[in-house]
Amino acid sequence: MGIQIDNRYPKLLPASRWIRHKHIEALISYAERSKNLITSKIGESEEGRTLHTIRWGRGDKRLFIWTQMHGNEPTASHALDQFIQDLEHNPELQVLKDKIQIAIIPLLNPDGAERFQRRNALGIDLNRDAVARSSKEMKVFFRFMENFNPTWAFNMHDQRNIFSVGAQDICASLSFLAASPDENRSISLERKASMQLISALMPNLEAQLSGHFGRYTDEFYPKALGDNLMKMGIPNILFEAGYFPNDDLRTKASALISNALIDSVQLIAEDKWQFVDTENYFLIPENKQKLRDLILRAVKFRNCKMDLALMKKEIPNPDRDELDLVYELVDIGDLSHLKGITEKEGGQINSLKDININQLANFSLDDGQLYNFKDGVLQPL
Ligand SMILES: [Zn+2]
Repeated sequence: MGIQIDNRYPKLLPASRWIRHKHIEALISYAERSKNLITSKIGESEEGRTLHTIRWGRGDKRLFIWTQMHGNEPTASHALDQFIQDLEHNPELQVLKDKIQIAIIPLLNPDGAERFQRRNALGIDLNRDAVARSSKEMKVFFRFMENFNPTWAFNMHDQRNIFSVGAQDICASLSFLAASPDENRSISLERKASMQLISALMPNLEAQLSGHFGRYTDEFYPKALGDNLMKMGIPNILFEAGYFPNDDLRTKASALISNALIDSVQLIAEDKWQFVDTENYFLIPENKQKLRDLILRAVKFRNCKMDLALMKKEIPNPDRDELDLVYELVDIGDLSHLKGITEKEGGQINSLKDININQLANFSLDDGQLYNFKDGVLQPL
């Protein structure tokens, strides 16, 4: 069975990674028009953008999901696009409405999303503000959470393209973590439950995109949200949507997540996760940072042979109302320990200026016959 791309329902969000407050309004107004979903305003961001919840069901088990607490990580919001339409229409889910309820905050960090940045308008990383709660967004988050009193929580993120499945040359298209509740990385009951639920999700995920899953290190982060929820006794799963070759919009990760959400509702509502052990969780290879978007191997620059590594970078362009994709040099030298998602070997680099890391690519390879970069933008050949 191959992957089912998210087109079960008409898309509510644009095919873009720059998902902002104005786009999320489409999910909210869909929910307002629906029969089975309920929306409410729960507060505002630092700059006064409304934070909403979408709720469904009335059961004792309570699943809390939020997306884009990092503004530039929209893949799970795309997954919600299809998932909320499933909550409205999918008959397999309707029968579970008396067993489980779900609360979703789509886009917890709208000010960050506006700027296409990780942090909020004041530069606070919301995922490190779980203890101090100094940001307006995390104050709203915890006030809502204490009221909803979740029995499960899903913390939805995107990871960079550098993450590989273990040391293999394979993109981790979706990664998981059952965070540690303390420095000893104890496997508390809540953490074990999270590992069991991830284990229960794995067979279906593997059937869709075999071998493309990673697991994060369980080092304890005292200020991180997932670690603190674990400490508070709330089982929770970190989802990290990742890359797949030639899928810049991450439609594959989005499809994997929306399918995993449907499975999770069923597994939680009927307590099926309890009968699954943690084995599959530990079988997921731990992520390594082996990959780069493009490696030009053994190229010559001013008579010196070297490898160049480049990463794609998304820069908001308000005129186009879209992200520009540019390439940045991230490493130069002997890069035999790294693997390019795309690689080319040999050739001559032509550049009028010096080249260095942390600058936009401004050179051509073999007189522009292979690659020609101007201010980071790859020119058509
Ligand atoms: Zn994140």
